[in-house]
Amino acid sequence: MSGYDDIKEEVKASNDIVDVVSNYVRLKKSGRNYMGLCPFHSEKTPSFNVRPDNQFFYCFGCHAGGDVFTFISKIENMTFNESLQFLAERANIKLPENRNFDDPQTKLKEKMFAIYADSTLFYHERLYKPLAKIAQDYVRKRKLNSATLEQFKIGYSGESDELYNFLRNKRIYRQRD
Ligand SMILES: [Zn+2]
Repeated sequence: MSGYDDIKEEVKASNDIVDVVSNYVRLKKSGRNYMGLCPFHSEKTPSFNVRPDNQFFYCFGCHAGGDVFTFISKIENMTFNESLQFLAERANIKLPENRNFDDPQTKLKEKMFAIYADSTLFYHERLYKPLAKIAQDYVRKRKLNSATLEQFKIGYSGESDELYNFLRNKRIYRQRD
């Protein structure tokens, strides 16, 4: 039987995030990414960003972000297990029976991955902010082009408690389950 990660990866690879999100949000191409009105908070100017290259979404307004499973869980109000089933069905992938991906170990792992993904994006976004001038000068000196910065998600860390505050403000990390 394939492991949890294999199944998850297979389902993920068969559900392009731009495709999936397009069923809920009208997306417009913007450079290599797509922008639209965020479905998770009320707004008039698009700040909802979908990135085909790393298969992530991120909202600059409400900081909602994650992969295609996070998106479906949030928008359909589903557990991770339900979103996995939903997306497997969408891609005609048969899941092994009697496996509950909502078990505590799996959930914990999910949450850890979500924290990594959020932290990566958090630092990466900061690299382009005015306060990161010292880092921008440095990457220019090292001749790192924007494709490299994007691919390796190079980021900038300023104050020591900024990530802590950012994650603390995200309600999901305060939930016990
Ligand atoms: Zn939003």
